[in-house]
Amino acid sequence: DYDVHIIGGGLAGSEAAWQLARRGARVRLSEMRGSGEMTPAHQTDGLAELVCSNSFRSDDDTKNAVGLLHHEMRELDSLVMRAGEVARVPAGSAMAVDRDVFSAEVEKALGDHPKVTIVRERIDTLPAAGLTIVATGPLTAQSLAASIVGATGSERLAFFDAIAPIVHRDSIDMSKCWIQSRWNKRTEASNEDGDYINCPMTKDQYEAFVRGLIEGEKTEFKEWEKDTPYFDGCMPIEVMAERGIETLRYGPMKGVGLDNPYDTSEEHPQGRWPYAVVQLRQDNKLGTLWNMVGFQTKLKYGAQVELFRTIPGLENAEFARLGGLHRNTFLNSPQVLDRQLRLKAAPNIRFAGQVTGCEGYVESAAIGLVAGLMTAEELAGRDWRALPATTAMGALLSHITGDAEADTFQPMNVNFGLFPPLHEVKKKQRKEAYTTRAKADLAAWLSEQREAQPA
Ligand code: FAD
Repeated sequence: DYDVHIIGGGLAGSEAAWQLARRGARVRLSEMRGSGEMTPAHQTDGLAELVCSNSFRSDDDTKNAVGLLHHEMRELDSLVMRAGEVARVPAGSAMAVDRDVFSAEVEKALGDHPKVTIVRERIDTLPAAGLTIVATGPLTAQSLAASIVGATGSERLAFFDAIAPIVHRDSIDMSKCWIQSRWNKRTEASNEDGDYINCPMTKDQYEAFVRGLIEGEKTEFKEWEKDTPYFDGCMPIEVMAERGIETLRYGPMKGVGLDNPYDTSEEHPQGRWPYAVVQLRQDNKLGTLWNMVGFQTKLKYGAQVELFRTIPGLENAEFARLGGLHRNTFLNSPQVLDRQLRLKAAPNIRFAGQVTGCEGYVESAAIGLVAGLMTAEELAGRDWRALPATTAMGALLSHITGDAEADTFQPMNVNFGLFPPLHEVKKKQRKEAYTTRAKADLAAWLSEQREAQPA
């Protein structure tokens, strides 16, 4: 007998189970590994197995967004952070762990908890009733994925990500680019009319850029990813470039219908069309993040930064996310989930972890933590008090549950571009200002939360 059914004992499911159990809820935690099932990336039956690197990234909570997330999770007695501390290995200012010790700590804490029952079983359908948290991760078993598609529609669950790089708006040099939608007439002196930032390229710049794409170092698909062909609209840009020198100029880099205000003549007082162009489109409601349209890529991160900074206007670009392409099961959360991570079509079901479109171990665990808290409040019959959007947890949650643009939604790491901007603070001090504000706002939220709850 249980109050909440959690499906998936990875980072997010384990954290959600812990948060619920600490608040007295009885949890059934269903994990398919250990019942004869495996995912292509996991190697053990242990709960919260880290499938790749052993790092939780920066632990600096004064200047780094993921470090801030560590701080916030510790404030909420996160099991993942607690087990991470026990399993910690030296890694400078980063937090790295011994993955076996880490997994064993998580499993012991949950296994010993009287409110938690761990069951090794694969779940194939979304439960029709009862409070449920689905935390089955980027490699959700096929049968359950089919059941999710049944509830959301096939357009709303992706099986591959196709990540185009995202640039912080305030790092774009607008003295070289301009804003205009294709075929929209530019009004005189208007640099701001349209939905796209356009970075123009000359013939020489374009040809050098295409060579850079073809020659740049790429990451390989993993063996188990190879049998899945590229899906429509997510072909890597370098694969397109290999098809011929003109392919990109007739595809995502086409310059027609865009009037370059930096290249005018009597004939073209509005500006000539550039030979080629890189377009960026707004990626979040705050307008702080812009994605490079059509630039999903398997170039290595270092090669991406080097090559993309040769684009006029992006010489000093700061990337909130670099491009990538991986197998990754995730929902179009801004469309299908409400602000409390509940499936709009079936509100007894919450989603948590990477399947909601966050990216990374720490982010997945953080969204698991929040899903656990929300479910605990619901069980207790109390209204959920929204987390401040100025906190790392609140900012990430706001992004995936509605602030991200639904039609370009792709998995996202936590980063300061998701936070309500602090334009008035000097750039040098801004990161510290974000973390200081977040800590104060979380502290206030926590104290109100404690007051609202009976002891
Ligand atoms: P998971 O940790 O994958 O947990 C989901 C659990 O659900 C699994 O244990 C799975 O067995 C179980 N499950 C699935 N379907 C069912 C079912 N139907 N019934 C019952 N159980 C089920 N992030 C980083 O920060 N650093 C990295 O280095 C990194 N490398 C990655 C490498 C790969 C190959 C992949 C796929 C992802 C990587 N990630 C990385 C991204 C992400 O952070 C991890 O995938 C993270 O584990 C996600 O946490 P989660 O709890 O959402 O999912």
